[in-house]
Amino acid sequence: MVSILNALGKGVNAKLREKQRKLENINRKSKELGDGIKQVVNEAQSWRHRAKYNESIANLLERNIQQLIAQGTARALEGFGKSEVDDAVSSMNHHGTVCGSRNQVPLDHHLKCRACKGKEVSVLLFSCRHLCLCIDCEGWINICPICLVMKTASLQVYMS
Ligand SMILES: [Zn+2]
Ligand SMILES: [Zn+2]
Repeated sequence: MVSILNALGKGVNAKLREKQRKLENINRKSKELGDGIKQVVNEAQSWRHRAKYNESIANLLERNIQQLIAQGTARALEGFGKSEVDDAVSSMNHHGTVCGSRNQVPLDHHLKCRACKGKEVSVLLFSCRHLCLCIDCEGWINICPICLVMKTASLQVYMS
């Protein structure tokens, strides 16, 4: 009887110990899982940070691209205008001396300051490189009167 009880007790003890071991295992695993979750959360946060960073860079790039497109369009329009003038001038030149005298009017107009329309142009504007202002008007004008681009610098030139 006693031996049976002992055996039963041993069996129960063994089972209890086994259960305890399993519980410890589960605890360890859940702790590992918790660490894993923490790591995943951290990674997710860092990814979110990176995503935000990328988003801001993307926004910046988009703004730059829009600016470049706007500038490109302005430049393309400007280029188109110039080539039109060049074509007109070259076609006029082909006609000879009769049209040559008519040529003088736009050229003369070209050399007059676009702001006061009186003095001779003598200031080259940057960054658009339009030669369109006299030295007096350059002092108070900050935007190119031809292409409306902000003046970043100016250079006085002398016509020869
Ligand atoms: Zn002027
Ligand atoms: Zn300009």
